[in-house]
Amino acid sequence: MTTRNFDIAVLGGGLQGGLTALAVLGRHPGARVALVEAGPRPGGNHTWCFHAGDLGDDGMALVAPLVAERWDRYDVCFPNRARTLGTAYAAITSDRFADAVESRFAASPGSALLTRTQAVGLDAGSIELEGGRRIHADLVVDARGPERFESGERLAYQKFLGLELELRAPHGLTHPVLMDARVPQTDGFRFFYLLPFGERRVLIEDTYYSDSPRLDVAGLRREVFAHAAARGFQPERVVREETGVLPIPARSMGEPRSELPLPAGYRGGWFHPTTGYSLPPAVRVALHLGRTLGQSPFGPEWARLCSEHARQQRFFAFLNRVLFGAFRPEDRWHVLERFYGLPEATVARFYAMSTTATDRARILCGRPPRGLSVRLALENGVTA
Ligand SMILES: Cc1cc2nc3c(=O)[nH]c(=O)nc-3n(C[C@H](O)[C@H](O)[C@H](O)COP(=O)(O)OP(=O)(O)OC[C@H]3O[C@@H](n4cnc5c(N)ncnc54)[C@H](O)[C@@H]3O)c2cc1C
Repeated sequence: MTTRNFDIAVLGGGLQGGLTALAVLGRHPGARVALVEAGPRPGGNHTWCFHAGDLGDDGMALVAPLVAERWDRYDVCFPNRARTLGTAYAAITSDRFADAVESRFAASPGSALLTRTQAVGLDAGSIELEGGRRIHADLVVDARGPERFESGERLAYQKFLGLELELRAPHGLTHPVLMDARVPQTDGFRFFYLLPFGERRVLIEDTYYSDSPRLDVAGLRREVFAHAAARGFQPERVVREETGVLPIPARSMGEPRSELPLPAGYRGGWFHPTTGYSLPPAVRVALHLGRTLGQSPFGPEWARLCSEHARQQRFFAFLNRVLFGAFRPEDRWHVLERFYGLPEATVARFYAMSTTATDRARILCGRPPRGLSVRLALENGVTA
């Protein structure tokens, strides 16, 4: 059994784990960081997007080298509303992410990137690897991702299948379509998501806010091809495929846990309960761990981060209860169509998890979206 000592050891080299390593080593180039990842490279198989307003200057500086594509606006399309929002949107690809994490570790001789390495256990001061090896660290972070997410209650799911397609001819898209909900509303609120990468490459995702986690992969592939054809795209080949089934919680998970090993990323509840986006909170946590290396992470700044995150989560969990508890699956799109009529700054703060009291009032007050069923809400016990 071999033992190595590190300043920080992170279990899970996905989004949270990789960002944490980058933040720590960016601020402390001599730090000893261990990142343990079961897969062949950090980052898995994702395209992570975020809105420009989601991150502050230090967050933008952290992710800037990871950004593969950036657009200055995006569209949403509903049966009765089409809108272009002038908020910039950016994509991080897992290839680019893996390149950045790997090269940072290659330049940090005291650190260790352990890929193809399965951990079998962890405690406040160590991670146990398959085969009996154990690595010790002053701070152990558990960033094992959504698969291990424990909320107690899973209300619903955001699930999707995306195909990145190389086309025979230019697609003509200049910016993303975040939601095209002008499609049959089967299996809950449904929309297509399109990200143009270069002239002939586009990622198309068929996304559902569903009561069931079941993903009919073959059926969804056919739906993506049908949507591509309806837009006049001629796919030449599939470059890659990604799928996701993310929990949409009905209850706030309370304040993130301040204990060791420190649960972070999806595992620690650091995600947006309604959109499933976790990049903005992952960046906040990573920067915090970079700033506090060598001390306890649980100071006043951590307390502030946790309480603001929990406050925002409570609101979004309530919205989830309304969306899933007071609307029939085929009527849920009305809620989103109404939402996208709100001021652009409110929409931006909704995604950033930094809503103000005015934003929350704008989202909840006024004429209710069509399809609201008081009977259903009472049956499902929808309460604030
Ligand atoms: C396909 C997809 C697209 C998404 N797109 C976006 C987006 O555009 N924007 C956004 O903000 N969010 C997005 N999300 C949501 C969220 O950001 C991602 O799920 C994100 O990757 C979560 O980060 P994480 O670090 O918590 O978990 P992950 O990135 O899933 O990382 C967890 C890692 O831990 C490793 N691991 C687990 N157990 C062990 C073990 N025992 N030993 C070793 N390694 C282990 C896994 O292999 C994995 O690599 C997306 C999710 C999916 C699934």
